[in-house]
Amino acid sequence: MTAPSVAAPAETVARLRAAFRTGRTRPLAWRTEQLAGLRALLTGHREEIADALHADLRKPRAETDIAEVDFTVREIDHTLQNLEQWLRPEPVPAAALTRLPPGTSAHTGHAPLGTVLVIAPWNYPVQLLLVPVAGAIAAGNTVLAKPSELAPACSALLARLLPRYVDPAAIAVVEGGGETTTALLAERFDHILYTGNARFGRTVLRAAAEHLTPVTLELGGKSPVFVDRGIDPGAVAARLARAKFANAGQTCVAPDYLLTDPATARTLEGALARAVTELYGPDPARSPAYGRIVDERHFDRVVALLDSGRTVFGGQHDRADRYIAPTLLAEVEPDAPVMREEIFGPVLPVVEVAGLDEAIAFINDRDHPLALYAFTEDGHARRRLAEETASGALNFGLPVAHLGIPELPFGGVGESGSGRYHGRWSLDTFSHRRACLDAPLV
Ligand code: NAD
Repeated sequence: MTAPSVAAPAETVARLRAAFRTGRTRPLAWRTEQLAGLRALLTGHREEIADALHADLRKPRAETDIAEVDFTVREIDHTLQNLEQWLRPEPVPAAALTRLPPGTSAHTGHAPLGTVLVIAPWNYPVQLLLVPVAGAIAAGNTVLAKPSELAPACSALLARLLPRYVDPAAIAVVEGGGETTTALLAERFDHILYTGNARFGRTVLRAAAEHLTPVTLELGGKSPVFVDRGIDPGAVAARLARAKFANAGQTCVAPDYLLTDPATARTLEGALARAVTELYGPDPARSPAYGRIVDERHFDRVVALLDSGRTVFGGQHDRADRYIAPTLLAEVEPDAPVMREEIFGPVLPVVEVAGLDEAIAFINDRDHPLALYAFTEDGHARRRLAEETASGALNFGLPVAHLGIPELPFGGVGESGSGRYHGRWSLDTFSHRRACLDAPLV
């Protein structure tokens, strides 16, 4: 067998390198054809994609459409609409430190890097594989895509479909677990985009250092939510519940914990309970709109966090079904188990603080999060949050939604990652900004 998904990693990388050198990936027409192919794959196999996501994560249909298929299609459409313009060389004034011959011009261009490795996780296994792949293609690279073995149905489906919709000489899928990823990382790539946990992110960086390969790290962390006093609890709760409990809390930018004063915490308890019932009915275990935990290891990990505070609602769990109810924990101590790691599950702890000063100090005492959320109408508080904290993104009022704006870069800072992608930012990530000077001889 020599199908791309089972060829040895080294062989596949060599094949992709050779394809890059032929120049086939450079023309705009090739790039837009591949992007259109990706789009056709997504729209033409919506049902199979939904089935695979259901098999891997019991992902509800609405979430599949919104956060996997339509999200990726919109990203592709945005790139298709703008790529030609983005690729235009950008002239710069040719004023130099030394004298230049008259008529000298200078510009910057986007040069493809070569062969890109995309390593994806299991929680949004379609979006988080194909959006970076689309960016790498738009920039004119050949791409090796490595889906997560923890979402095996999606991995198999994408490995089967991609060669039918995009140029198999230039875009390959290699399936597999730790051993395969380790073998891939021994190869030389021209860029690696890794999405996943920070522990393995360090391994990726070390392996890349061997070849001086640039790396984009899309990691996670504990994204806090500050809720100011006097905010309408109903509006906050509806937006929070949707963002937190989608995909059973397994979202890298999900609100991880709440920081608020004791009185606001009390008013939010009832409002969040109502919001959860509105989303999933009285028994979320029976709701087709509520997902499951990916595997037993993660199930056990999240269940062990449930005793970290007073349970306001939720707490029910069923290992056979990998079900954990949407859970709100009140009066959680800053050093409780649930506050010591990224939760990545449907558990929302509330840590009480006296006010904004204490909230900012709490955030700054910890790793820089992937997103910082705040519900406040106070301009002074907004300015302070913007100026006195660091995070991948700062979002007032609508958790998670910043991801859907392709003009915004998506990425972390510090422990939540380095580098960025989406839209034009993907083109920058997967290109070399080449400096070009043209001086006439006479
Ligand atoms: P995962 O276990 O699927 O791992 C991600 C990828 O790395 C997979 O392809 C896997 O095969 C590979 N990998 C992981 N550990 C490995 C090892 N020891 N040896 C070889 N290969 C290995 O996904 P995960 O790490 O559990 O993902 C969850 C984490 O990812 C969370 O921290 C989450 O916040 C973060 N995340 C970040 C983003 C983002 O866009 N910033 C998106 C989703 C998830």
